[in-house]
Amino acid sequence: MERIGSFVNSASNDLFFNGCSSCEGLCCNGLKGFAASPLILEDFEAVYQHFAIVFSFDGEGELGVYVMLNDGKGHCNYFLNNQCSIYEHRTPACRLYPISPYFEHILVDTACPSVNPDMGKMICKDGKLNEAFYTQRLENFVAKREATKAFLESIKHEEHFTYCGEVLGLPLFRYAGQSDNPYIKMHQMSLCHLKT
Ligand code: SF4
Ligand code: SF4
Repeated sequence: MERIGSFVNSASNDLFFNGCSSCEGLCCNGLKGFAASPLILEDFEAVYQHFAIVFSFDGEGELGVYVMLNDGKGHCNYFLNNQCSIYEHRTPACRLYPISPYFEHILVDTACPSVNPDMGKMICKDGKLNEAFYTQRLENFVAKREATKAFLESIKHEEHFTYCGEVLGLPLFRYAGQSDNPYIKMHQMSLCHLKT
């Protein structure tokens, strides 16, 4: 089986989705799926009451921002009785999966066991995405990603960040400076959910 996170371009593949009923929540399990997911600014409001929002510096000193979905050792805390217990409040990325935007492309994870070439609900065919899989997060995604990058650049002073752990090799930082910025406030309020 492919590892979760084996994305292909929706524009050049015909793919269908056959439901989650026979899956053990692979995408919700940090050991098999994702522990963290990159955020754009509009995601903050949707996630901070249920998940930790953290920052991370990559090897080149670039600042990124993520929602922590689990501690990397097992399922998301909200995965109960083999289903999402906060379905209406799941993260925007969870809402989209097995689709994920990447710059101007829309990708599909072929490692999701439900994604297949001919059975179930059409995800994408002949270069077109089924509208039923389209969420507001995809709209103007490149511009929203650029705005997020600009925000991160504006707060990127390493002395304002404190190391607070690591999950699956991702070093995590919290903002320790003074700020009235609403995104920083949501980040700080979200830290009560952080488990490393
Ligand atoms: S979206 Fe895919 S990986 Fe996630 S629970 Fe459903 S079938 Fe499993
Ligand atoms: S919020 Fe729900 S869908 Fe998202 S990782 Fe947690 S249990 Fe899975």
